[in-house]
Amino acid sequence: MTTSSHNMQVNDFGIEHAHWRNWVGNQSCVRAARGAPQSEDELCAMIAAATGRGLNVRVAGSGHSFTPVALTSGLHLTLSGMKGVKHVDREKRRVTAAAGTTINELVKVLKAEGLSMLNQGDIDSQAIAGAFITGTHGTGAALPVLADCIVGMKLVQPDGSILVVDETTPDLLLAGRVSLGTLGAISEMTLQVTDSYRLKERIWREDFESAMEMHDELAEKHRHFSFFWCPYEESRHCYCLPDTSATSKTGRTSDVCEMKVMDITEEAPFEGEFDKVAYSSDVYPIEYIPNFHELEYAVPRQHGKDAVRAVRKIMLDEFPEAIFPIEYRFTAGDEAWMSPFHRQDSVTVSVSGEPGKDYWDYLRAVDKILRGYGARPHWGKLHFLTGEDVEAVYPRAQDFRALRRKLDPQGFYLNDHLSQLFR
Ligand SMILES: Cc1cc2nc3c(=O)[nH]c(=O)nc-3n(C[C@H](O)[C@H](O)[C@H](O)COP(=O)(O)OP(=O)(O)OC[C@H]3O[C@@H](n4cnc5c(N)ncnc54)[C@H](O)[C@@H]3O)c2cc1C
Repeated sequence: MTTSSHNMQVNDFGIEHAHWRNWVGNQSCVRAARGAPQSEDELCAMIAAATGRGLNVRVAGSGHSFTPVALTSGLHLTLSGMKGVKHVDREKRRVTAAAGTTINELVKVLKAEGLSMLNQGDIDSQAIAGAFITGTHGTGAALPVLADCIVGMKLVQPDGSILVVDETTPDLLLAGRVSLGTLGAISEMTLQVTDSYRLKERIWREDFESAMEMHDELAEKHRHFSFFWCPYEESRHCYCLPDTSATSKTGRTSDVCEMKVMDITEEAPFEGEFDKVAYSSDVYPIEYIPNFHELEYAVPRQHGKDAVRAVRKIMLDEFPEAIFPIEYRFTAGDEAWMSPFHRQDSVTVSVSGEPGKDYWDYLRAVDKILRGYGARPHWGKLHFLTGEDVEAVYPRAQDFRALRRKLDPQGFYLNDHLSQLFR
């Protein structure tokens, strides 16, 4: 093994060190070099040294994507040494944080500062850069993709120089918010946050048809509404969902929806069996174990109920082995060029296959249904999008590709998966 002066381990082909895999273990790569910069200067130097040798570069967040987005055979970077909140602007409610900071680490600082993120997803272990730039979202009919809160970022270019992106560079900002690291390595981000708030969560069980009847009203009435449709009794265990059977009006245990609403409240914190109140970020996350390979598509909101009905039908009729729940959530449209919610209020429909099983016919069948509704896949979850599909469903795809080519004409920040989507 040779180690450069910049802490970069080059020509490290010992299997133990060269191999990287993602959290769930369905994506892996053998890297020619890896690095863990401790500062922005080191990050820039490592990238310049690698591209100077013709190596491609990818930065991994916390490895929670199911797609090959973080893979490379070139220089693979972790920003685990570049964490922490650097600046808090109380007046504007903005924070600047190093890109390797996890959402969990960020929200601890926000809590202490009397601030909150506007919304969060199901987990908080992702790095902020990794999460936001794949279009990670929570649920809420009026709440956009998390990346909508990015008001600035620093992008390390292939030559090691830094491109500063902020509201004075609107095209770069709208392209960069959801860009999968193809516009450069992000060293830090500035985020718009909000005053601290508490959430009251309520969970209960409904039969599928009852959930469909309540769908529009719950989405309108509550800041956050989502459900997991569970085809079979054992389905809820796949996602560690709590037992809400005592709340069911019919006693059904299969073909049921595990419902959840959350709203801002002034109530004091408490925790009951089916409801609780706590600081925002203490309510959002739920528990997952790495036992699923997930596909999730954003469907225009007006087609949500038809789409989930159609997926439910094929699961029950054609794929009885598909026992993982469907997760169903809401996200408001936003302006980011490659956001799955670009100018489109949407619901998201997610399904999972079981690791070790051949679930591809099932996922392809779901893909076929959801495509029919003009769906756009989550960039970090399994999908079947081709480069042509990208153009068909993303009106700003050509602009995004042109900008990417301008910043990185040699494609140092691409891998095979990203090349077919964005070259
Ligand atoms: C258990 C689980 C729960 C999830 N829950 C949700 C959810 O509720 N909502 C949702 O929308 N998604 C969810 N996801 C998907 C997840 O949020 C995304 O896949 C997210 O991108 C993962 O973040 P990460 O930090 O692990 O990034 P990674 O997967 O490591 O990387 C994602 C992309 O970002 C790039 N990248 C990372 N850091 C940088 C950087 N500093 N500079 C440039 N590029 C960078 C990588 O190269 C890659 O292209 C979930 C995934 C899992 C496994």
